[in-house]
Amino acid sequence: MAIKKVWLDESAGECICCGACEGVCDAVFSVPEKMQVTEGVDFNQYEADIKAAADGCPAQVIKYE
Ligand code: SF4
Repeated sequence: MAIKKVWLDESAGECICCGACEGVCDAVFSVPEKMQVTEGVDFNQYEADIKAAADGCPAQVIKYE
């Protein structure tokens, strides 16, 4: 399934700014403070990395659809 949207969802937890997501996929994620999703990226090129970053996020605050 194609990924259309990636975002930070802090409804159930808080980004702890660990930088792990950026380490997995710095094309999509940056962590200047809290995680930010880079705009204008074709998420489908990074689908596996986005899923890995979301799975590996210790706070479980990375969502995608
Ligand atoms: S891996 Fe999760 S907790 Fe760590 S910086 Fe990224 S979004 Fe924040």
